[in-house]
Amino acid sequence: MGLLAQGTALDWPEAKKYAQKVREWGIMQLLEVWKKAKTKERDAMLWGDEIEYLVVVYSKDEPKVLLSLRQAEILKALANNEELTSAGGGACDAQRACRKDPLPVFHPEFGRFMLEATPGRPWGIDFKELLKVEPDMKLRRRIAKDHMLPNEHPITLTTFPRLGCPGVFTDPYYPVSGPKLRSQFVPDEIANPHIRFPTLAANIRSRRGRKVQVNVPVFRDLKTPWPWRDPTVNYDLHNWPEDDDVRNGAAPDNFIHMDAMAFGMGSCCLQITFQAKNITEGRQMYDQLSPLGPIMLALTAATPIYKGFLAETDVRWNQISSSVDDRTPEELGEKPLKNDRFRIPKSRYASNSTYISTDPRLRPEYLDPNLVIDEDIRAKLLEGGMDDRLATHFAHLFIRDPIVIFKEDLEELDLSKTDHFENIQSTNWQHMRFKPPPAGENIGWRVEFRPMEIQITDFENAAFAVFLVLITRAILSFDLNFYIPIVKVDENMQTAHARNAVLERKFHFRKNPFHVRPSRGSAAASGANSPTTGLSRPPTPFGPVEDEYRLMTINEIINGTAYARSTMSTYTEASVAPGEMDDGDRLCDDEFPGLIPLVEGYLDSVNVDVVTRCELSTYLDLIRKRASGELWTAARWIRHFVDRHPLYEHDSVVTDQVAKDLVGAVLAIGDREESGRGFKGLAVPAVPQLLGEFRGGC
Ligand code: ADP
Ligand code: MG
Ligand code: MG
Ligand code: MG
Ligand code: MG
Ligand code: MG
Repeated sequence: MGLLAQGTALDWPEAKKYAQKVREWGIMQLLEVWKKAKTKERDAMLWGDEIEYLVVVYSKDEPKVLLSLRQAEILKALANNEELTSAGGGACDAQRACRKDPLPVFHPEFGRFMLEATPGRPWGIDFKELLKVEPDMKLRRRIAKDHMLPNEHPITLTTFPRLGCPGVFTDPYYPVSGPKLRSQFVPDEIANPHIRFPTLAANIRSRRGRKVQVNVPVFRDLKTPWPWRDPTVNYDLHNWPEDDDVRNGAAPDNFIHMDAMAFGMGSCCLQITFQAKNITEGRQMYDQLSPLGPIMLALTAATPIYKGFLAETDVRWNQISSSVDDRTPEELGEKPLKNDRFRIPKSRYASNSTYISTDPRLRPEYLDPNLVIDEDIRAKLLEGGMDDRLATHFAHLFIRDPIVIFKEDLEELDLSKTDHFENIQSTNWQHMRFKPPPAGENIGWRVEFRPMEIQITDFENAAFAVFLVLITRAILSFDLNFYIPIVKVDENMQTAHARNAVLERKFHFRKNPFHVRPSRGSAAASGANSPTTGLSRPPTPFGPVEDEYRLMTINEIINGTAYARSTMSTYTEASVAPGEMDDGDRLCDDEFPGLIPLVEGYLDSVNVDVVTRCELSTYLDLIRKRASGELWTAARWIRHFVDRHPLYEHDSVVTDQVAKDLVGAVLAIGDREESGRGFKGLAVPAVPQLLGEFRGGC
């Protein structure tokens, strides 16, 4: 979660008084970093992943699975382990071979029931590094477990199925309704107690003028009463002024209603950060990975349950977005603008709204003409020498107020730090993040890819991480072009939420990724760009933007149109009518090669030894089959698990018993994965559909 400064955190509206000062100082710090690092060259191609865990209290003999709130104690135990903290690692013990790589690093997260772990050092460019990722992820899980109580377990479900349900769902138990969150469903103790986190939640609520509203459409099953009214909402509370929210319509029919940051920021995800060789490459990666965001969100879908109910959506994104939406009624357009500065169309947690590259293939038509920016900030950045496109990006981020301000930091501006810049930057939770080099560290320009949902096993998490690394290398190596209008990326992000979007929805995607850069001084594209895939086409001059992209299924995007045609009737639940997919008169121009074939083409073009290539192909296979429907997303598997549970009453309710058995199944999958024994005969429904029967060795 970025920086954890100590000090006196200002309450809202006290903090609001200093917002402009923080923005101005933040921009000065940004310019300082930018001036120093804009010409930085030849940084190594490094990358790193982040895995987030829920810590659950589970034993076979207990009736319920609970969330453990012992994050602080667990982190302390980890910090006291000298083997883990000694720089450089290199320790040996009975189970683990001597390691040259430093041991993983553990971090706090928003939820007091969460942990985050990253590798001990970023991964390098060597292909062999890609094979270290899964063992390292498994090691992280093992080390985390080693520092927990026997009945505590780190699991990688995106959300805890019974978070916020009536009764007991945490260990220890705390009664609900505290002064910070004022939630009717979760206690204040649900958040990391470090002053930053409760202040973040309280100031978001306070700035907004009411509690956050996280409303998810409920899944309508055979016996779900309809219209459905969330039975856990209490309309008769009078502890806080915010208790009026539900009486004022905060909890509409047919939606699961939640009212606190923990329901969103308490979700786990898989993030990947890349270091670029220079700022130009970083800006290119940012843009080219942007359109992949919604695709990877739908493909990693893992979030079908909220607050004890099955949802009609499969992913976490919009819920996190609502859970930190600090916009005021004026900013939301509910009241005329009087005290606030802008109408703002999106939450500060949302898909990104700008492209930033200097690539001449970035056509002005791809940008959002309605982008909201702080003109003064942009002017200051331009004055400081920054180009308009990058200045516009930061001027967009800086329309927001800083939420948590420490009094001590306001005393003097320290230009050797980036704390004020990071204050705004790190609370703009967009699906991509462009990370300038941190002050005083020899790190390059980085780009973070943030939309993916965490997967149940480390095999899957490694597969998605590796896939993203390989597609990024293919992008750079073949100079691929995935540009579509940024507002279409937004639209895709919403599409990705639909139940089973991975198989049943279509996404705007660019048809020709080989659109070469126009040569200097000419508007039309020229020159050849022939990767060894044999899939290249002649350079295309700029035509109407609408002709550059079309709606595609994820199978088409990941596997290519040809493969998709051959598999679609086999695995999809065919809500996409075949006629729609394959309209006989399809122009050859509408063929898309597919991201996996592009990666394969890239791997063919470089030197990868046979063993490494074989290992990588087990990961690519998982991605391929998830996209075709041959394997299921976690969301689909969880739905299936609930649906087949003998105690499920087909009324959308995920009871304590079902939730407990679901977590038990997740733990069983983990044990079997760890032991490498495959999944045949494992008494867990539908595991082969999730992971394949057995992962054969190479
Ligand atoms: P945040 O929570 O702010 O996104 P973290 O420190 O938790 O950041 O994780 C960042 C990830 O980036 C980690 O996997 C880390 O290994 C990786 N990383 C660190 N330094 C670099 C670097 N120079 N280049 C690329 N990745 C890096
Ligand atoms: Mg995190
Ligand atoms: Mg992190
Ligand atoms: Mg973080
Ligand atoms: Mg998080
Ligand atoms: Mg991160």
